[in-house]
Amino acid sequence: MITVESLEIHVSNHCNLSCRGCSHISPLEKKEFLNEENMYLVLKKLSSVLHCKVIRLLGGEPTLNSNLENIVSKIKEIGISDEISIPTNGILISKLSENILNNIDIVEISNYNYNEKISKNLIEWAKKNKDKVTTYIYLYDYFREPFSYHKNANKQLVDDIYKTCIISQKWQCFNVYGEYFYKCPQSLAICKNIENCNFDKNGIKILDNQNLEEELEKYINSTSPLQTCDYCLGTVGKRFNIMQVSKEKYKKEAEKNIEEMLDKEFLKRSLEEDVGDMFTVGKVLKF
Ligand code: SF4
Ligand code: SF4
Repeated sequence: MITVESLEIHVSNHCNLSCRGCSHISPLEKKEFLNEENMYLVLKKLSSVLHCKVIRLLGGEPTLNSNLENIVSKIKEIGISDEISIPTNGILISKLSENILNNIDIVEISNYNYNEKISKNLIEWAKKNKDKVTTYIYLYDYFREPFSYHKNANKQLVDDIYKTCIISQKWQCFNVYGEYFYKCPQSLAICKNIENCNFDKNGIKILDNQNLEEELEKYINSTSPLQTCDYCLGTVGKRFNIMQVSKEKYKKEAEKNIEEMLDKEFLKRSLEEDVGDMFTVGKVLKF
């Protein structure tokens, strides 16, 4: 049995915010919810060879999915993880019903809309529900450039970005989407948005795969970058202030070349030392 840190399921692909720098590329997603029947089949099969410490039900914004209560109880029943977490931007925090909270362990609130009133409300909510769930509130200071529409032709740079990628190497933010297992949310999102990248070349097919355990093990431990890493900044993109943008502006920012979007100093540091867990978060509150 393979044991990993985390698995992510996109219960709503779209979001009620449009953050410049969203690494899930949600600002470009159309309104779309999880295909539940397919996901249960896929997770059942996956659970026969893989177990994770935490499964994250996210998006986009997961609270936009009105069937979240059923999804949570079904995923708990499948038992692929020790814990269930819901990462949210907190805008619709009241949608996390009593039944949802009783079936999950963690709520991770990314407070991108930072202002005193919102933070105060979220802190009050976290304190009120302290006995049901552990809540983390991440107060973000900035984002990093996520991806480019233009292929990175510098092979050494692609290797370095992959090697220093905290998302895939350290956090193991593995994703399940459709019938495939992916190394990170970016590999999935880039496949959706860049024609040259194929789902089957960047992920592992789960259903009807007789060699699933073997293929997953090889894929997870591979030291070679994925095809999608050619378009990705991993965790070493340049920093910029948090802001909300239009779809057009989000796309325009990704028209720059990888080298132009790269935080060279941070890449150098990441290659030389352990830069810790937080590459964008300023402060974390735990309740
Ligand atoms: S709230 Fe999260 S998912 Fe939504 S656009 Fe911002 S970063 Fe992306
Ligand atoms: S596509 Fe590559 S560089 Fe980007 S997050 Fe995934 S593994 Fe990291």
